[in-house]
Amino acid sequence: MSKKVYLGVGHGGSDPGAVANGFKEKDLNLSIALACYEVLSRHGVNTLMSRGKDENDPLAERIRECNAFSPDLAIDIHNNAGGGDGVEVYHSQRASSDDAFAKNVLDAIVAIGQNSRGLKTKTLDNGNAYFGFIREIKCPAVLVECAFVDNKTDLAIIDTPGEQKAMGIAIAKGILKTLGVAYQEPAAPVEEKIVYFRGGKHYTSANGNNGREVKAGPAKITNYVKGAKHPYHVIHTDKSSTVYGWVNEDRIETSYVVRTPEVGDIVTFAGGKHYVGSNSDTGYNAKGGSAKVTNYVKGAKHPYHLVRVAGGTSTVYGWVDADTIK
Ligand SMILES: [Zn+2]
Repeated sequence: MSKKVYLGVGHGGSDPGAVANGFKEKDLNLSIALACYEVLSRHGVNTLMSRGKDENDPLAERIRECNAFSPDLAIDIHNNAGGGDGVEVYHSQRASSDDAFAKNVLDAIVAIGQNSRGLKTKTLDNGNAYFGFIREIKCPAVLVECAFVDNKTDLAIIDTPGEQKAMGIAIAKGILKTLGVAYQEPAAPVEEKIVYFRGGKHYTSANGNNGREVKAGPAKITNYVKGAKHPYHVIHTDKSSTVYGWVNEDRIETSYVVRTPEVGDIVTFAGGKHYVGSNSDTGYNAKGGSAKVTNYVKGAKHPYHLVRVAGGTSTVYGWVDADTIK
């Protein structure tokens, strides 16, 4: 049986978490989690993320989903506020295995140059863990606060995409060590080709069952296992798709060319709001379907003007956001 890990991605959607210095905690958490997810998947760990994009992700739902998945380990990824400096990892006091897990994650993050605030426990008056993620999840579960968003000096360790990736890799190394899986550098870099994911199911492993329906959109191929049931591992490259997992060969359109739609193009409108002006806040719901690009205002809030194609399902005739068309 392959090992299973649940990655909780702190906050999301209407809950940004800590906000300071031009960064939102929810975005940092996701960027770090995606890098961690990539490494775990590459090592054959069956990994489920609580969210793969910016969306509401209530803690109660994360706990329910995690316990249903029944992983070997669970970690909730966060960043801190309060002006401190360094990483801290919370764990329960119920088992020494939680302690080893927390220590491995802490050590791996310190190894990339982050200061340590140590292992922490925080309990309610009745002695149970303070954090619901640690208290309610049945497997060993920890919560990591990678860095302080509101301390510029500390934030510097994760304020670029490359550094967020390094943080995610460090967390993955701590998880792999706890699972007894040796970390391996990528053998040969996977050609990160951009393809079009046609929509359908993604799976947590190359031969897994129980896939989840995810939306279509551009994605990059990050791994390939020849002969597997779901041979391609793909991660979405914009907000139109929600894929981050293993998919069947027939779900991939390799002839996809990344191009910005131009005036005169027939595109697919995903459905959602259209607006009365390219920077207007007055929007109405319109149905998805084929539409023609009739105008484009670079840099506008809703840069594309669309008009539905006669006979199609769409009801769009207005200005729309870039991420609603393909
Ligand atoms: Zn948080």
